[in-house]
This record gives sequence, structure tokens and C-alpha cells, in this order.
Amino acid sequence: MSHYTLAEGCPYARNDTTVQLRNGSGGGLVLLQDTQLIETLAHFSRERIPERTVHAKAAGAYGVFECTHDCTDITSASFLNTVGKKTDVLLRVSTVGPESGSADTTRDVHGWGMKLYTDEGNLDWVFNNTPVFFVRDPIKFPSLNRSHKRHPRTHRPDPNMFWDFHTANPEGIHQLMHLFSDRGTPASLRHMNAYSGHTYKFTKEDGSFKYIKIHIKTQQGIKNFTREEATKIAGENPDFLLEDLYEAIESGNYPVWNVYVQVMDSKDAETYKWNIFDMTKVWPHQDYPLRQIGRLTVNRNPRNYFTDIEQAAFSPSNMVPGFAPSADPMLQARMFAYPDAARYRLGTNYQTLPTNAPHAPVYCPYQRDGFMNFTTNYGSDPNYIGSSLHPTTFATSATSPSRPVASTITEHEKWVGEVSSFTTTMSEVDYEQARALWGVLGREEGHQERFVENVSLTVAKVERRELRGGVYDLFRRVDSDLGARIEAKVEGGI
Ligand code: NDP
Repeated sequence: MSHYTLAEGCPYARNDTTVQLRNGSGGGLVLLQDTQLIETLAHFSRERIPERTVHAKAAGAYGVFECTHDCTDITSASFLNTVGKKTDVLLRVSTVGPESGSADTTRDVHGWGMKLYTDEGNLDWVFNNTPVFFVRDPIKFPSLNRSHKRHPRTHRPDPNMFWDFHTANPEGIHQLMHLFSDRGTPASLRHMNAYSGHTYKFTKEDGSFKYIKIHIKTQQGIKNFTREEATKIAGENPDFLLEDLYEAIESGNYPVWNVYVQVMDSKDAETYKWNIFDMTKVWPHQDYPLRQIGRLTVNRNPRNYFTDIEQAAFSPSNMVPGFAPSADPMLQARMFAYPDAARYRLGTNYQTLPTNAPHAPVYCPYQRDGFMNFTTNYGSDPNYIGSSLHPTTFATSATSPSRPVASTITEHEKWVGEVSSFTTTMSEVDYEQARALWGVLGREEGHQERFVENVSLTVAKVERRELRGGVYDLFRRVDSDLGARIEAKVEGGI
């Protein structure tokens, strides 16, 4: 039982009446002095915050990451410094293009936002359920997403627009192969992998580092819907994936993922056959096998969806000592774009919201004031740097994430500077990994056939013959039979 008050604390007789000036016949005029009515209506008009432009529809829950293997030879990250060490985690899994009210079994890449509340601050892993991405030049990111969302005139998703973008920007072919495979329609968020996509660095206090890619692999087994199943469920229960995760956790059936890294020496990066800063490429398992670092268990539903999940803000720029960015231009741009989106969506003090606040102590007194500041705002501490009146101490560690590890520019860094200026010009090499995935699909009965149908049904809605021809050519460059099969289906009326 709770005792009702107005929002300012005043105990109030009822919450279901409006104060009126009665005219003696039962009706009356509503009075401005009815604070309860005015506050109720005014707050209702303001209870929406901007929806995320992408990744709007999501499930979320809390869990724990446990370090399972000794990693001290490759990183000094505190959360990985002892086998058995546990770190609290917030997980938010989303579709990308559709809105918050959309059906979650719609074919799409799935985002994997994961906040590790480590004892040295928050580390955010802002990953996807595919190991690659559609573009490798960040300036294309808004265009890519617009082409997947609603047409500016019809306000409907539009296959003409979708394929127009992808035929003009064919570096996305590897990701398209993932999207139109069965993994484009996961049957459950518990039965899905996630990948860093980007190359990151593990760093050590001695200044050394390794390049890494992270793989989060479901221990429930991969499970996908066919196109027909996903479409049917979208109509019957548009919140199917949310419900599945929530109910599994409520019943104590906690999903588990093992967490692995692929590890590469900086010297190897200079001569490796793929550009390791190109987000459209994987590192083949054969060259760089997976090495386990931990295990994730998701075990607690949010207490309140809005405060815990909607107000959650993830950014690849949230890193901890021992973990650092690489020169991947997509990663560098995302490190700006994600906090920028959070400042717009949640306000300048979004980092102090309970779901985003680190569990580690925070002392950042040069970032203060601003709208909706609920903190003590550092009291009388100096709001300028370099005070002798109230000196500040700093970490001695050489592993601060965004700082150069060495004071001089190394030969490797010179090399990084050269290769990271790549453009999105395509060559035959860019089709090789898409072709490898086409081969992987061929290992499973019926998967290639389903893939051809999944693509063909959307291409059949493209009005211009030349554009359809562009799509056939795109897939022909992956595999001539694949392109021919799509063309035969579409032009033959499916
Ligand atoms: P391998 O032959 O060693 O492994 C193929 C991998 O493909 C599997 O380990 C599995 O990754 C993944 N896979 C299996 N079925 C599907 C599917 N239906 N849709 C998408 N992925 C699937 O291959 P390579 O490492 O040499 O890579 C070959 C291709 O496999 C790549 O071009 C890439 O498209 C894809 N792949 C590669 C990954 C990598 O990091 N090397 C990761 C995922 C896919 P998992 O075990 O992670 O489920």
C-alpha cells in the first residue's frame, strides 16, 4: 500500500477527480487551481523522449560477466585480471532500422549494446549479431540507414531505395549475405551470437598491445526463423523476441554466452591479406582461432523499462585501461556519434542517470552543471584544471584507453596512418569473404535455397529493370550461380 501525494509531496484526497466551479446544475468550469489536473496533463504531454534514430526496438536485462581464463599476457584490463572475477553487466539487444513499436522478428541486423560496470569504469561493447558491417566509410552511415528506413514520400520501407543504395555501395555485399541468410531472422535473442566487428586493442602497462576481435557465442545454440515463420510471428506477436527473453529470465532459465577474442600481433597486421581496419572483413578462424576470456550470464529483468533500458546509453568510446580503439574509421566516427546521440536524446547529464552511472567511483569535476543535474555537483571543488588549492591526482597507468601508449610515434603507428586512409573503392578481393559465406551456407541443407528466396522476394518489388539487373550483377560477382538463380526467380515471377 502506498500513500498518494502530488509530485511535490502534498498529501491529496483523491487522484480521480477534477476541481470544478459548480453552476448548481451538476456541470461546471474546470479551475486552474486544480494543480493535480494540470500537472497530470502537462506531464503526460511530455513523457516521451526522442526515439533512437536507429536501434529503437529492444529488449534489455542485467547480468554478470565472469573472467574464465588467464588473460594477463594480453591485457592489463582490471575486469580480466583474475580468473573468476565477476563484473555486473547491462545488455540491450535491438533491431536497427524499425521503430520502437515495430515487429521484432522483422529481418534486420541485431544490435548488441552491453555495458560492463567494471571496477575501473564502464566498458561498452556496442556490437551486432553479424561480424561485419554494410559500409567501411563512416560518412555513409546516415545514408545507409535512411535507405533501410521509410521513403520520404510514401513513408514506407522501400526495396527500390534499399537496392539502389546497395548496388551503388557494393562494399556491403558481405553483410548482405549475412542479412539474407537465416541469421537475419533469429528465433530468439538467447540463441544468437554477437561480434565486435571492429578491431580493438588489448593493451598492457608496459606499453605493448595486441589487436583483437571479440566474439560472444550463445551456449543455447543458434536458432533462426525461416522467412515464413518470422513474417507470421510479426503479425501474431510483434514483441515475440522481447517476450522470449523476459519470460526465460523470469522463470530462472538464464541464457549464457561464452566470450572469446581473436588476437593479432601488430607486425602481422602490417602484412595480413585483409586490411584489419576494414569493417566489412572478418579474420578467418583458421588464421586467428578463438581464445576464451569469459562467460556472460543474463539473469535479471529490468525493474523499470524506461529508466533501465530506454535511458541506457552505450558508446564505443566508453573504455577502460587495458582496452583501446584501433584506427578503424568507422569505430573512430562511432566514438563521436554515440555520445552525441545520447546528449540529444537524454540531455547533457545522461552519464549520471542510474543505468549509465559507473559502479566505480567517479571524479570528473570539470564536467558539471547542465540541465537536470541530480548530483552533488562536486560541491566547492575547483571547476577549472590545475588548481593548487585543491590538487587532483591522476592514474599512473600507461594504458588509458584513448592515449597513445608510447611517447614517440612508432613505425607501426606510421604504418597505421598510411593504411587507414583507405576509400570505399571496390575490388574483386571485396567479394571473397561474401563468397566464403555463400559456401558456409551450402553446408546446411536448404540454406542456399532459402537465401535465394529471401533476396528474390524483395528484388521482385524493385520497379526499374536496370536496378534489378544491378542486383543480379552484385550477387553474380559473389557467385555466378547465385546471381543467375536470383535473376531466374525474380524475372520468372518467383
Ligand atoms: P569457418 O569455416 O572457420 O567458420 C564459418 C563460420 O561461419 C562459423 O564458425 C560460424 O560462425 C559462421 N556461420 C555458420 N553458419 C552461418 C550462417 N548461416 N550465417 C552466418 N554465419 C554462419 O570460416 P571462416 O572464419 O574462414 O569464415 C568464413 C565465413 O564465415 C566468413 O566470410 C564470414 O562470412 C563467416 N563468419 C566468419 C566469422 C569469423 O569471425 N571468422 C564469424 C561469423 C561468420 P560462428 O561460430 O561465429 O557462429
